[in-house]
Amino acid sequence: MSTQLPGFIDRFRQPEYVGENRCTPCTIVNVTIAVVVSTALTFAAMPIGIAFFMFSMAAIYLRGYLVPGTPTLTKTYFPDWLLRMFDKSEMGTPTQTPKETDREPEEVLTEANVIEPCEEIDDLCLDDEFQTAWQENMERVLEEGAEKSDLSRILDANEEELEFEEHESAFLARIDGRRLGQWESHAALVADLAAARELSDRYGDWDELSVDNQSRILSGLRIFLETCPECGEMITAEQETVESCCRSMKVVAATCEGCDARILEVEQN
Ligand SMILES: [Zn+2]
Repeated sequence: MSTQLPGFIDRFRQPEYVGENRCTPCTIVNVTIAVVVSTALTFAAMPIGIAFFMFSMAAIYLRGYLVPGTPTLTKTYFPDWLLRMFDKSEMGTPTQTPKETDREPEEVLTEANVIEPCEEIDDLCLDDEFQTAWQENMERVLEEGAEKSDLSRILDANEEELEFEEHESAFLARIDGRRLGQWESHAALVADLAAARELSDRYGDWDELSVDNQSRILSGLRIFLETCPECGEMITAEQETVESCCRSMKVVAATCEGCDARILEVEQN
């Protein structure tokens, strides 16, 4: 019996819905349903009510939910703002809410002569000089392996304590386990560091901006990137649906065709 139990439990388990992947709204909905149903059953027959409650809790613990199809149901029927609150996926950069004192990316980039109206189409284009400098800086960051020293200077953190962590869909900087920054990929980080080097020269007030504000400007700038900082191949943008624990969202994703690095991911509302 003791040797069979773990195997049996394992077969019942759904790792894609428990542990780190647990969907909090789904769990709340299911625990509520379990409590209501068990209470009703308790009025009919106490042992049945208790047994049902125990079974429900075990199911929610092992499978993530009790009522079949809950993840799909919450994705469909729960308002997105509610799901967003529980969403702990580590995809892309967390949405930063701009503060009132923040400067608008477009304003800053225009004032710094980084972007300008395109010559032929009605859009914004990168200033040629900036583009060359940005490219050179990206190569220098990579050659020097300057990611940690550049970033620690920006964050005013101790370079020795800075740690990088690479996931399939995110690149994280941590100190003491605390998350200091997050990028779509290593390539995105290199692009930001290289642009920051140039912007602090071109824009007098750059160092006065908050780190969040700087990072919003830098990720906005990545829209203009044409080739991958990592491998030099073309970057293409397309619409994608990204699934997280309990919601699916539409994003515009810019990805490198050569090394598949995610350069930018912007959620669409
Ligand atoms: Zn690439």
